[in-house]
Amino acid sequence: MKYSAQKGTRDILPQEIYRWHKAEQMFAQVCHSYGYEEIRIPTFEQTDLFQRSVGDTSDVVTKEMYTFEDKGGRSVTLRPEGTAGVVRSFIENGMTSLATPVRLFYNITAFRYEKMQKGRYREFHQFGLEAFGAEGPGIDAEIISIVDVYFKRMGLKNIKLCINSIGCPVCRAEYNKILKDYFRPHISELCEDCQERFEKNPLRMIDCKIDGEKELVRNAPRLIDYLCDDCRAHFEGLKSQLESLGIEYSIDPNIVRGLDYYTRTVFEFVSENVGTQGTICGGGRYDGLVGSMEGPQTPGIGFAMGAERFLLEAEAQNVLPDKPRYVRIYLCAQSPEAKTRVGRLCYELRLRGVGCEQDLADRSFRAQLKYAGKQNIPYLAVIGDDELATGEVKIKSMEDGTETAVKIENLVDFCAENI
Ligand code: ATP
Ligand code: MG
Repeated sequence: MKYSAQKGTRDILPQEIYRWHKAEQMFAQVCHSYGYEEIRIPTFEQTDLFQRSVGDTSDVVTKEMYTFEDKGGRSVTLRPEGTAGVVRSFIENGMTSLATPVRLFYNITAFRYEKMQKGRYREFHQFGLEAFGAEGPGIDAEIISIVDVYFKRMGLKNIKLCINSIGCPVCRAEYNKILKDYFRPHISELCEDCQERFEKNPLRMIDCKIDGEKELVRNAPRLIDYLCDDCRAHFEGLKSQLESLGIEYSIDPNIVRGLDYYTRTVFEFVSENVGTQGTICGGGRYDGLVGSMEGPQTPGIGFAMGAERFLLEAEAQNVLPDKPRYVRIYLCAQSPEAKTRVGRLCYELRLRGVGCEQDLADRSFRAQLKYAGKQNIPYLAVIGDDELATGEVKIKSMEDGTETAVKIENLVDFCAENI
C-alpha cells in the first residue's frame, strides 16, 4: 500500500524548515521585546470550550472543527485556533490574579476542515498572542505595533493594516435591530447561511464569503456609524496612538472578523500582492470572553497570524535568508589511523558547538571530497599519515581556496574561533 499525506496537511522538509526557524525566532524575539512570554497549550480541548468561546454561529464551529469522541466517550476537538485554549489556561492556572496586563504569546498548529487552496490548509500554524486585563486603547496599539515591528524586522513591505470597531454588546444590540430592518425585505436574496445569521448573529452577514460582495451587503448600515460614546472614544484613542507611532492604517467598516467573541477593536493585516491568500493576520478585542468562560470579568485582546501565509508572502517578497550551513567543516581521513583521530576530533568539535562531518560510508578519498562539495560544506581538512606524522593539518576554505596550517592539537580551538 502506498501512503500519502492527508489532504490539507503538508510535510515541512529540511530545504524549507530553516525559513520557519527564522520566522519563529523573530516572532519570539519581537514578542519578548514587548514583555510577552510564551505559553504552550494542548492540541485538543473539550469540544464545548470552542463552542462557547469561538461561538456557535461562526464558520469555524459550524463547519470546520475536527471533533471526535475519545475512547472514554468524551467529545474532544483539535484546536481550530489558540485563543480559547489560552483563555482556559489563563483562568485555570490562576493568572487572573497576576499584575496586568498579562502578556502571552504562542506558536501553535491549528486544525480546520476546509477546502484546500494556496495558503489554506487543514493543519496550519499560527503565531499569536493574547493580552489580558488592559481596557484602554494603549494595548490595542501595542499589539498592532508588534505585528508592524515583526513585519519590518523580517523586511516585509506592502502589508496593509485595516482597523474597525464592532462596538460592545450595548451598541451592537442597537445596531443589530437596524441591520435586521435593513435586510428583512431582502432575506430571500441571501444565501442559506445568511438567512440563519439573520436570526442568530446579523453582524456576521457583513462578513459572508458568498453574499459579501453583493451591493445589498456592501451598502448595509455600518456598525462604526452607530458606536456608543465609550466605544467611539476607545476607537478614537486607538487611531491617535497609531498615528503617534507613525503606523499607517485604513478603516474598513466591513471587517467584523470570523469569530463571535470580538468586541470593539478588530483589525487585519492584508497583503497587497496579488496571488497570495489575502489576510495574513487577524485580531481584536474580546472584553466579554473571560467572563463568559466563568472567569472573573477581564478585558482581553489578541491576534493570530497564519504562519504559512506569512511565509508565502515573505517568499514572494524574497526576504528570507539563505539556508544556514550548520556543518562548517568536513574532516577527510586518508588512512585507518587517521580515521580514528578524525572521529575523536569530530566529537570534540561538536562538544565545542562546531558542526562537522566525517565519512561513515567507507567512501574513497575522492568520493569523500565529492560528498563534501555536494553538501556545500565551507571548510575541508584532510588528515592522512603525513599529517599525523607532522602533527599539522591544512584547513581549506572551499569558497576562496585559501589554506591555513594549524597543529592538529589546536584544530578544535582554531575551528571554534574562526569558522
Ligand atoms: P479566512 O477568512 O482566510 O478563512 P479566518 O478569519 O478564518 O481567515 P482567523 O480565524 O482569523 O482566520 O485566523 C487567523 C489567521 O490564520 C488568518 O488570518 C490566516 O492567516 C490564518 N488561517 C486561518 N485559516 C487558515 C487555514 N485554513 N490555513 C492556513 N492559514 C489559515
Ligand atoms: Mg476561515
